[in-house]
Amino acid sequence: MHSPEKPATSTRAPSHLFYQSRLRRPLVDRAEGIYLWDQNGNRFIDGSSGAMVVNIGHGNRHVIDTMKEQMDRVTFAYRLHFENQPAEDLARRIAGYMPDGMDKVFFVSGGSEAVESCLKFARQYAVAVGQKQRWKIISRFPSYHGGTLGALAVTGYAALTDPFTPMMKDMPKIPAPTAYLDRDNLSMEEHGLRYADRLEETILAEGAESVLAFIMEPVGGASTGALVAPDSYYSRIREICDRYGVLLIHDEVMSGVGRTGKFLGGDYWNCRPDLIALSKGFGSGYSPLGAMVAPSRMVQPVLDTGGFQHGYTYAGNPLACAAGGAVLDEIERLDLIGNAEAMGEVLRYELVELSKRFPFIGDVRGKGLLLAAEFVEDLVTMKPLPKEQNAFQRVVDIAYDKGLIIYSRRTRGGVEGDHFLVCPPMIVTRQQIGEIVAILADTLRDLANELDL
Ligand code: PLP
Repeated sequence: MHSPEKPATSTRAPSHLFYQSRLRRPLVDRAEGIYLWDQNGNRFIDGSSGAMVVNIGHGNRHVIDTMKEQMDRVTFAYRLHFENQPAEDLARRIAGYMPDGMDKVFFVSGGSEAVESCLKFARQYAVAVGQKQRWKIISRFPSYHGGTLGALAVTGYAALTDPFTPMMKDMPKIPAPTAYLDRDNLSMEEHGLRYADRLEETILAEGAESVLAFIMEPVGGASTGALVAPDSYYSRIREICDRYGVLLIHDEVMSGVGRTGKFLGGDYWNCRPDLIALSKGFGSGYSPLGAMVAPSRMVQPVLDTGGFQHGYTYAGNPLACAAGGAVLDEIERLDLIGNAEAMGEVLRYELVELSKRFPFIGDVRGKGLLLAAEFVEDLVTMKPLPKEQNAFQRVVDIAYDKGLIIYSRRTRGGVEGDHFLVCPPMIVTRQQIGEIVAILADTLRDLANELDL
């Protein structure tokens, strides 16, 4: 159990490692299921699956054994020298989960690489089919699509992009469909259409012939706090892309591989993306793994005109792909997608109940086990909490000291507001959700006292 007398906040000696900030955390010792232990024996509930990664939970025996067997056989063979069976098998199985026609898989080692691959592939496809003038990629703010300069250029998150703007091509952005914040008389579905129509306006303003693609997360990740658009949004976006010959890229790095209660977040709607980026839950923390999925009709012209001029050394290595295959085995054997859907409903219900006790929770949203709650100062105006209160960081720190890991953001670069995500591994049980919610309730009570909410 988590023992408060052994503080989680680290007082360790200076380290030669450096991370993104000065925040220090304890050394991790081991992990099992939805739990992690630090070196002092403190137990933590992994209420965010790391960064929404460890979808099948920690210490899965089947994945570990499969990886060990693969390590005994061969861990790396360069793709220009050999193909490998785990990659073949995984690509075939992934294609089986994809929308019709999305039958080609390009492996990478992470989410940024998956997004970067989609952007570059889209461009090469356009060139291959004689549309050289198309290069602009429209995206949304807030959004997060990765840390490499290409993925960052389509990211709508000022704190992360500002230092690098001189080094990046400026790409057009439209607002994410934050319909829950709008206080006018339109219905949700009308809001959905209005947000989608911002895409058409931007395509026209940029010059339709120059626009290559639109990239979006069908169910938002950390930047928007699991944002789900009204249903009307998704089909209207597809219609607009079709009307102007703009490719639709779905970033399913966080929402994909079952977390939302369907294999893809986009499976909830009829959106027919042209390219899909996957990662995170694909390797489930056992191995760095990601993929771009594309249809043959787009791959063929690129291969016929000299091939895709892009790739990564570790891409599709046998060990990562064996891990990915074993992760899929477990998702199927334990019906984890069904469990994500069912437990997502339980957790959502509990979060809504908490919002009744703590009226500074203004919105609960998401799909399956990709769920978030947003703090507001006022339920009517939905005004955010003052920035100086630092609520997004405090909620994480208070929960951490109580042995619960959650994820949060105060998104900048668009809508300012504090939200936290609760996204436990897809193996979570009803009883474990009870444990999570109990700690969350204590956390919110302490937060309310501390910030006088
Ligand atoms: N796209 C989305 C939606 C993400 O949530 C992330 C990471 O959080 C990325 C891309 C980048 O993935 P990675 O950190 O694996 O490069």
